[in-house]
Amino acid sequence: MTAGNMDKKRGIYIHMPFCVKKCRYCAFLSFDAEGSPRKEYTDALEKEIKLRAAQEKKNGTDKPVNTIYIGGGTPSVMDISSMSEMIKTVRRSFEVDPDAEFTMEANPATLGRKDGVMLAKLQAYKFMGINRFSMGVQSMDNDRLHFLGRIHTAENVARDMDMIRRKGFDNVNLDLMFSVPGESGDDALSDLEKILEFGPEHISCYSLQIEEGTPFGEMAEAGELTEVPDEEDRETYHRICRRLEDAGYEHYEISNFAKKGDDSDSPSPYRSCHNSLYWNMDEYIGLGLGASGFINGIRYKNTSDLNEYLSALSEGRLPIAEEHRNTAFDNISEAVFTGLRRREGISYEDAVRAYLEADDGEKKAPAESCDFRNFFWDIFAEAKEEAMGYAGRGLLIIDNEGLKLTEHGIDISNSIMSLFV
Ligand code: SF4
Repeated sequence: MTAGNMDKKRGIYIHMPFCVKKCRYCAFLSFDAEGSPRKEYTDALEKEIKLRAAQEKKNGTDKPVNTIYIGGGTPSVMDISSMSEMIKTVRRSFEVDPDAEFTMEANPATLGRKDGVMLAKLQAYKFMGINRFSMGVQSMDNDRLHFLGRIHTAENVARDMDMIRRKGFDNVNLDLMFSVPGESGDDALSDLEKILEFGPEHISCYSLQIEEGTPFGEMAEAGELTEVPDEEDRETYHRICRRLEDAGYEHYEISNFAKKGDDSDSPSPYRSCHNSLYWNMDEYIGLGLGASGFINGIRYKNTSDLNEYLSALSEGRLPIAEEHRNTAFDNISEAVFTGLRRREGISYEDAVRAYLEADDGEKKAPAESCDFRNFFWDIFAEAKEEAMGYAGRGLLIIDNEGLKLTEHGIDISNSIMSLFV
């Protein structure tokens, strides 16, 4: 067994923390766009981009970037000229692969009111190099959208998709939310049918989580909102999975489905390359308020305080709030935790390579004759019996190559993954 130097991919995540209006369930880091210092924010972001790139060059750790993802918040509420300047700064500061996947999240009803305005905005995004959109559709039922506090209607989604296709964008993800209080499984499936009519290349499906500190969280505490029971939630999830598989989508991650390509035996060409970085223990540079990153063996998180973010950058400092060099055990544990999210699971080899890659003087050295499987179970000796128990109950597949969750194992994925933490 050799430690190997895996050819790590690298991505950039940029956070835009502004939205037209806060949704009632939202616990993401976002503020109302109106009255927020958006221009100051993108100016600060440009400084952060340059500082990060300069640091990488100085350390000799700069590498080509394979994916860019602008998330939020709602990046499509940002002023086009500020966005364009910010992206130019990224391209001048980092070596971006010419074939990089470049995603921007865009919420329905934020691309413009008039056809001409929308088409011009989409053209500008095209010039910037954006080649993938991720749209927060959530539902195609106007009453449910209103209940969720979304600003858009089903008609907005149809119009935005029409414009996006007219501009030639051929890689689009649509988000679907299910288990909204009051919604039945049939309602969720009916939303899915309407989403399928748009022929998106990728669909992400999530059940609604009611979070503390949100209006929904307060309503639940006051007894005004009842969560969909777990059993019903899981039944709807499996119905969604089956319908998407019938419709020609590859279920490649717990919540993610990609349209199959011409060769249906090969991985779909529409898997999200950027999100795959997270599940593959690849590197990503997080930029912007509250953004997280993982580069050169270090996990970091930027401050979530907007004033602190702006003042750090005005003083020429990176706005980092937390930083941690991963130990070898952190690496293998994260590799298993995130790798189990993929339907193909995690191989012993990839997990052990993550372990051996860590810059950790305490890590165990494998014996010459030791194979990846034995080394893996040596590290997780305490978890082995319980893991075998899950395998015996048909929830986890453990073979000579590695481990993966079964369809029903997904329902208790957190319990299984926590064995390896
Ligand atoms: S659009 Fe997204 S980020 Fe913005 S408030 Fe709604 S859920 Fe939160």
